[in-house]
Amino acid sequence: MPDAARHHYDVILIGAGPAGAACALALRHSGLRVALLDKARFPRDKVCGDAIPGPALKALRKLSEDFYQELRTRTPRADTQTSRLVAPDGGEARVQWQLPTFSSPRLHFDHHLLNLVRRHTSTEIRENYAVRDVQTDAHCATVFPADGSPPLTAALVLGCDGANSVVARKLLPRPLDRRYHCAAVRAYYRGISGTNEQTTEFFFLKEHLAGYLWIFPVGPDGTCNVGFGMVSDQIAAGQVNLKETMQEVLRQHPALAPRFAQAEQLTPIVGFGLPLGGTPRPSTGPRFLLCGDAASLIDPLQGHGIDTAIESGVLAAAQVQRCFAQQDFSAAFLQQYEREVEEKIGRKLTRSYRLMRFFADKPWVVNAGFRVARQPLVKKWMLKLVG
Ligand SMILES: Cc1cc2nc3c(=O)[nH]c(=O)nc-3n(C[C@H](O)[C@H](O)[C@H](O)COP(=O)(O)OP(=O)(O)OC[C@H]3O[C@@H](n4cnc5c(N)ncnc54)[C@H](O)[C@@H]3O)c2cc1C
Repeated sequence: MPDAARHHYDVILIGAGPAGAACALALRHSGLRVALLDKARFPRDKVCGDAIPGPALKALRKLSEDFYQELRTRTPRADTQTSRLVAPDGGEARVQWQLPTFSSPRLHFDHHLLNLVRRHTSTEIRENYAVRDVQTDAHCATVFPADGSPPLTAALVLGCDGANSVVARKLLPRPLDRRYHCAAVRAYYRGISGTNEQTTEFFFLKEHLAGYLWIFPVGPDGTCNVGFGMVSDQIAAGQVNLKETMQEVLRQHPALAPRFAQAEQLTPIVGFGLPLGGTPRPSTGPRFLLCGDAASLIDPLQGHGIDTAIESGVLAAAQVQRCFAQQDFSAAFLQQYEREVEEKIGRKLTRSYRLMRFFADKPWVVNAGFRVARQPLVKKWMLKLVG
C-alpha cells in the first residue's frame, strides 16, 4: 500500500474506552476503513467505580446478543442485584435493579470490550498511540501523534478520548465549569465486613451532600472498589481534600469504621475528573464529533458514564454512516448527532443535574426522602428516574 493510503482512513476514533469501542462495534458492517487509537496498551487501568450500568449492557446487547454473552463469560465480575443507599441520619433504602448489571474492574472490562472489536470487526487498532493534536480543514481531519511520526488523515475524526480529551481541547476549547464537573477518588480493599457480592452500597454524608461514598464489590474474592466523589464547585468552596476525607470517613463513620477495622487496602487512593452532563453543549464541528466523557455525558446524580459513553458511541456510528452516505462532513450536517444525543441522553442528564443540586444543601430533605422512598409507589418512580 502506498504511504499516503497507509496513513489515510475513512474514520479515526481516538480513545478505545467504552465510547470508542462501542462506536467501532457499531461500525462493523459499514465497509469503512476505521482506525481506533489509544495512548495505552490494554489491559489498562481506568480510575472508576467499576459499576457497569444496566443500560450499558442493554446497548451492547442491542448491537449483538453475542457481544453481551461474550463479555459476561470472559469478564471477571460481581453480578449486582441490589443497591443499598444509606442516608446521612443512618436511614436506608434498597433498590432492586431490573436490568442485568455487574461490577468489574475496568482493567478487565475495557480489555474484553476491546477484544470484541478485535474479534468482530476489521478495525485497525493502534495501541501506545498518543495523540498530541487534531486539526480539520475542508478536505480532511489530521491527527498528529505525540511521538512525531507521520500524521494520520481521515474524512472524520471522533473524540472518544475521555475526560481530558485532546480532541475537545483542540477543536472545541472551553474553560472548566466546576458546576458541571466532579472529582472522585478510589482504592481497592479486601476484607471489609458485611459486604455481599450482589449489593452495591452508597453512603450520603451530611457534610458532603453533593456526592457520595461508595462500596462496590467487584469480584468473587471479596475485593471491593471503595471511592468518594463530589461536585467540583463544592470541593473548591469547602476546600475538601478528597483523599483525606475518604480516609477520615472510613475511620470515623459509625456504620463504616467497624466494617473497615480489619480491611486491607490493596492499592493507593487515586483520583480522576468526571465531566458532568446537565446542560446542552456543542459536541460537533466540521469533520469531527465527541462521544462519552469527551462530550461531558456523565450522570450528575449517580456519577456513571459508561452507559452514556456506549450509547453515544452507537449514535455516533449512525451519524458517521449518514455522513458517508451523503458525502457531507460539514458542521451543519453533523449537528444531527448533537440533537440526537440531547434528545436521547442529554434531557435525562439535565433532570439528574437539577435533582442533584436540589438535594445538595438539604440533608433533612435527603433523610426524609429516604423514608418516603420506602413506599412502593415512590420506589417505582425512583427506579424509573435512575434507570
Ligand atoms: C472515580 C470515578 C468513578 C467512576 N465510577 C463509575 C461507575 O461506577 N460507573 C460508571 O458507569 N461510570 C463511572 N465513572 C465514569 C466513567 O469512568 C466514564 O464515564 C467512562 O469511562 C467514559 O468512557 P469513555 O470511553 O468516554 O472514556 P475513557 O473510559 O476515559 O476512555 C478514553 C480512552 O482514551 C484514551 N486517550 C485519552 N487521551 C488520549 C490521547 N491523547 N491519545 C490517545 N488516546 C487517548 C485513554 O487511554 C482511554 O483508554 C467514574 C469516573 C471516575 C473518575
